[in-house]
Amino acid sequence: MVKVPPFDATEQFRQIGDQINQAVAAVLASGQYVGGSNVKEFEQELAAYVGCTDAVACNSGTDALYLALRALGIGAGDEVIVPPFTFFASAEVVSLVGAKPVFVDIEADSFNIDVTKIEAAITDRTKAIMPVHLFGRPANMTAIMAIAKQHNLYVVEDCAQAIGATWNGQQVGSIGDVGCFSFYPTKNLGCCGDGGMLTTSNPDLAQQSRVVKEHGSPKRYYHSTIGINSRMDAVQAAILRVKLPYLDKWNHLRKEAIGRYDQYLKHIDGMITPKHCPGSVWNQYSIRFAHADRDAIQAQIRAQGVITITYYPVPLHLQDAYADLGHKSGDFPVSELVSQQVLSLPMFPEISDEQQQYVVNTLKDALA
Ligand SMILES: *Cc1c(COP(=O)(O)O)cnc(C)c1O
Repeated sequence: MVKVPPFDATEQFRQIGDQINQAVAAVLASGQYVGGSNVKEFEQELAAYVGCTDAVACNSGTDALYLALRALGIGAGDEVIVPPFTFFASAEVVSLVGAKPVFVDIEADSFNIDVTKIEAAITDRTKAIMPVHLFGRPANMTAIMAIAKQHNLYVVEDCAQAIGATWNGQQVGSIGDVGCFSFYPTKNLGCCGDGGMLTTSNPDLAQQSRVVKEHGSPKRYYHSTIGINSRMDAVQAAILRVKLPYLDKWNHLRKEAIGRYDQYLKHIDGMITPKHCPGSVWNQYSIRFAHADRDAIQAQIRAQGVITITYYPVPLHLQDAYADLGHKSGDFPVSELVSQQVLSLPMFPEISDEQQQYVVNTLKDALA
């Protein structure tokens, strides 16, 4: 039996482990474990990659989103528009700053926010739109920026799954007011722990988020606001600096793997393969089953060694944590339907043709 994991973090270590070991050893020998030159340089390298003037390193993608909202002054009484089909953190940070997430349904074929439904959700309390570039696929930033401009709203891009993705040739994270990235190991650029980054070309926003991430302290031991501790470890920065030059190559390998999945899955009935978009970096390849019982198929192929993940089984408006928002089943029908249908197939740059054929054959058997 071939075993196919959903994601294989050891592959990259096999390829460039020597470089990573050297970079980590240098940090350990330096005694500079928090902040320092590696973090500074990585901020500059990432800002250049994304095409922003500023980048602020922090402890996670969640923190980057939180810092962005704080830096924009969003808080109690404010509303932020978010899709309900995303990782919990996208809405969670809105609640953490004391604001209210206002959900807007997604498009079934792109999994991203349905831009035709945004305007109906805008009120006089709306402060920002948070598009999520889900599964590596850019949201429709042309439409989102136009709506934001017309209604005087900020745009906070959740780029956690989409580093390197482009919309009309422009890197995500450089289009809205702020971009937020995660370096969690399963993201397209992953470290060996937690890490995050906020990108912006507004120096005031960058400065304000630095203050919040350092205990609200513009000057050491002088605190102008209540902040948090969100530092990036020097070890993670050193690892990310080694990996960043490989990102485009890894994203390209993902695209090649996607081409193979598309080809092998094309003629299978009842299965919907993901719609393409030129700037996508394919963090996930999520198929949908129009009729079949997704959970039963997932269990069946798991028994054959193919491990898949359901991103995401419960849309955010139906999570217990958001019971107080008073939503019910049927409020965001596309997100609800997609939650029941999606399955993310094993996806990582190094996945082999043999592994992919095995995944597809196992799926075919399960569907038969
Ligand atoms: C991973 C992720 C986050 C959070 O990033 P962490 O680094 O895990 O905190 C936020 N939004 C989305 C869409 C994500 O996939």
